[in-house]
Amino acid sequence: MRALVVAASVLLSCAPPIRVPDLPATGLTALPGRGVEVCVLMQERLVRSRVEGVAEWSFEPWEYGIASVVVKHPSGLVVIDPAFGRDVALDLVRAPKLFAVIMGPPRTKTPMHEVMSAAGLDPAEVSLALATHVHWDHVGALGDVPNARVLLSRPELEWARGLRRYLDEGVMPHHLARAKDRMASFEFQGPARDGFPSSFDVFGDGALVAVPLPGHTPGSTAFFVKLIDGRTALFTGDASWTSRGIEAPAHKNPLARLDSDVPQTGDALGFLHALSKARPELLIIPAHDAAALERLPACGPTTVTASTR
Ligand SMILES: [Zn+2]
Repeated sequence: MRALVVAASVLLSCAPPIRVPDLPATGLTALPGRGVEVCVLMQERLVRSRVEGVAEWSFEPWEYGIASVVVKHPSGLVVIDPAFGRDVALDLVRAPKLFAVIMGPPRTKTPMHEVMSAAGLDPAEVSLALATHVHWDHVGALGDVPNARVLLSRPELEWARGLRRYLDEGVMPHHLARAKDRMASFEFQGPARDGFPSSFDVFGDGALVAVPLPGHTPGSTAFFVKLIDGRTALFTGDASWTSRGIEAPAHKNPLARLDSDVPQTGDALGFLHALSKARPELLIIPAHDAAALERLPACGPTTVTASTR
């Protein structure tokens, strides 16, 4: 046990350095058009230790979550990161033992379609699925939104097409196969914004804008969403699992991080740290920080009032 602790400490202290770029503190780029309603479908929520999520020797609590984000756009229902599919228990049984141990038992995980139905949302009505990246816990439910078009960044889709094993680099290719006839890629051909070199405006109205954030995977993508209350959220996927990783900035725990390119992930972390300082009004939401996700409302049945009954 002592050897394990020493090994872990050495690993944590060897985390590669993170370069923080200069980002001028101007106001956040205003997105045109109206904001959209956004809510969160939490599918797993646990309290873990900070050291499990960040390369810091700290046992402070990490509010850990796995969730999908619903965007109620006028042109249809959008899900970012459709997380756990209806076969999540089977996914874990068939995965290598060590992976299943790291991810924890199925009993703490609820498939997305169940959380959606409980919230009064119909998975069949989802018209577009997006993903920050294609790891198993971000696209597991693609098969459960059968009418959704799936849009991925071109480098992410190209990378995913080369993966074959049941669990390959954190991806379960069968999740993507379930949506292969509805899947397309997009290019970041839009203008630079807020320090990102390019962008892709999903609907062309400024409500939902994808920006490249490679490192964790080759085509990792972050999404700006203009909220109905005027704030802007940025969903940053797994560049960091936690807000703490961006605040420090610090890499993820090296024993579990699964970054395709560690130095590039460091650049992403340094950039997000600089962005959080230069644009403090921006709501930056890492994919596995439940406390950050809970700054947005949970999806739930709309309250029926006397006037709408
Ligand atoms: Zn993840």
